[in-house]
This record gives sequence, C-alpha cells and structure tokens, in this order.
Amino acid sequence: MRLYYDDAYRKAFRSRVVDRREDAQGLWVELEDSAFYPESGGQPPDRGTLAGVAVQDVQADEAGRVWHRVAQAVAGEVEGVIDWQRRLDHMEQHAGQHIASGAFLEVTGRDTISFHMGQEVSTFDIAGRSAPTADELLRAERRANEIIRENRPITLRWAQADELASLGLRKPPQVSPPYRIVEVADFDRSACGGTHPRQTAEVGLVKLYAAEAVHDGFRIRFYAGQRARLDYQRRAAELDRIAATLGVAPGESGATVDLRLAELERLRGLTARQRRVLLDQEADRLAQAGEPVFLALPERGPDDLRDLAARLAARGVPLAVLTGTKEELGAIVLQRPNGDGPHLGEALKALTAALGGRGGGSPVQAQGALPLPAAALLEEARRRLGGL
Ligand SMILES: [Zn+2]
Repeated sequence: MRLYYDDAYRKAFRSRVVDRREDAQGLWVELEDSAFYPESGGQPPDRGTLAGVAVQDVQADEAGRVWHRVAQAVAGEVEGVIDWQRRLDHMEQHAGQHIASGAFLEVTGRDTISFHMGQEVSTFDIAGRSAPTADELLRAERRANEIIRENRPITLRWAQADELASLGLRKPPQVSPPYRIVEVADFDRSACGGTHPRQTAEVGLVKLYAAEAVHDGFRIRFYAGQRARLDYQRRAAELDRIAATLGVAPGESGATVDLRLAELERLRGLTARQRRVLLDQEADRLAQAGEPVFLALPERGPDDLRDLAARLAARGVPLAVLTGTKEELGAIVLQRPNGDGPHLGEALKALTAALGGRGGGSPVQAQGALPLPAAALLEEARRRLGGL
C-alpha cells in the first residue's frame, strides 16, 4: 500500500521487506507498505532511510510495485524515514503548480499540457506557442496567490471511470482508473498521484516567470513556497548590489542603468572618432618619407594594424609591414597600394610556412597571427620579405 496516498505528512513508518532484486544501478527492495513517493507525473522520488540505510531512488514498475534502491541490503521489519525537507519542498511545488495552472486557465483560457519539477527550478507548459503578455502573467500570479491566501482545503478522493464526465477535471487523466482526484476547493480539480499539503496557505507564495516557446506550447518557470521566498531574497540582494554600485536607491536602479548605457554609447562614438583622428595623424607622420614602413607596435591589436596599414597605402607608402599582438600570438599586417607588385598573401603564406601560425590574403593586403612576439616577428618579416 502507498501510505502517502492518503497522508502526505507521514514522515516515518514501519513495514516489512517482501522482495528484493538487483540490477546495474544496485540493490532494490519492495516493502509491504511504503510512504516513499516513487518518481512519476513530473515529481522526483523521495529520499530518506530504511533501517538507517540511505534510500537513493524510488521507482514504480509497470505492475505498480514500488521499489526502493538502498545503499546496502536491508531485510525483515524495517523503519522507513522520509527526507522531510525534500518532501515538503515537493509538496509545495506540486500544489503550487495545480494552483498556478488553474489560475492560468482562468485568466488566459490556456491549458497546462505538462509539468516538470526540477531540484532548483520547476516548469509547466501551457498550450499555444505564444508568450503570455506581462499583464496575463501578473494576473495569473495574483490569482494564484489569492487562492493561497484564502487557505482553501486541498482534498483527495478516488473516482471510477463512470464518474469521469461529471468530475470537471482541468485535463483528462493520463492513467487508468480508479483516478486519484486532487481538488483545490471550488477552483481546480485534477487527477494526480503526487503529494500535496492539506490547505492552500501551506504553499505560501507562488512566483511565475515566462520562459520560452517549446515545441508544442509555452514554458512557464515557477517557484512555490520556500523556493519562492529564496528567489525573492536572491533578487532583492542582487538589486541592492546593483543599486549600491550605481549609488542610487534600489527603486531607481533601472532608470539609472538606462542613463549610464546611453552615456556609454555616446562615449563609444567619441572614442571611435578620436581613434580615427589619431590613426590619420600617425599615418601622415609615417608616410612623410615615402619609404616602406616596417614597424613593431606590441601594444596594438589586429584592428589597429589593419586600419593603419590601409591609411599608409592610401598615402602612397609602397609597402607597410606592421606587427602587434593578438592574444598569445604576434599579429602581422602587410599592405601596399593597388597595382603591380608582389603578391602579399603568398608572401605571408611563405612566412607562416617557415615560422608557424596562420595567415593569408590578397595580392595587396594580408594578415595573420604567428607564434612570435611583435619585435621578433618584425625582424623575421624584414629578413625574409625585405627584398619585396
Ligand atoms: Zn499534484
């Protein structure tokens, strides 16, 4: 007999081991009666102990027999103890989901099509791939918390197949009769084999978040009970931290972030304009002699090298070979004006063939990254390409 069916608050019980089996996962025992919840309907299995031995998993087989995977053999009469914090959390999530799904149906007309309870986050999927509006989400959450505050009874009863039509279930049962009916008084009636508290107030709080479209519906992420309170604490702490960093009150941090981002955008534009001016000045200075330019710029990255080399070619410099730094490697850019001349892409390929790294390009422009620091890379390039 499944003791949790009628009493989800049963934390300990005595029973007898009636069967055992072994598989790749370990040793499993069946009890005459058990208060352990086997994984099903989106709810994870209970944990706890049997005769002081850890219960690592609980699964029901196709015949409905409940198997407990135990860390070591147990036999005869045993005391079972349920990991109560875990069970209580599951009860809060499961009842929270019934209430939230009922509220979603009432507010949006959208059915819940599936449910998953995770160790951190739980979700249910509602019909239709479109996201609920922010207003719908808020109204569903408000309605769910209203049902919680009204402290309505959550009751259990068994029903036969011929009663199904008259039960008014939120969705058709996916199991065969008799059905275990979980009712939130005058609000929601579902067929469910899970564990729930006796009153809605025990759920405490429900918080809903729109997650993402899934293949046949839209996923809602939710927290109930202690998880919802922890979610509130985490978010409040995060907001306080952001506000403290910005030096404003928590309620002002959103508007302040908007202002700071606009300022950042303005400064980015200013920096880009100043960079172009500086590159132009640098190119003017380097191009004065009209000679090839071989220059190591260890502090500069490939973008700077490329933009400077292009400016040098535009000013008639016959060949520019610039080296800099790209992460752990040396960066190199070769450029010359359009028209007849050596194939710089091929020249760079010859350099990487000799020194390693990668690179290539067109007859007039080439760039690469080689395993040498900027100064040494420039020396090698000058030695091997000086005749270009
Ligand atoms: Zn349930």
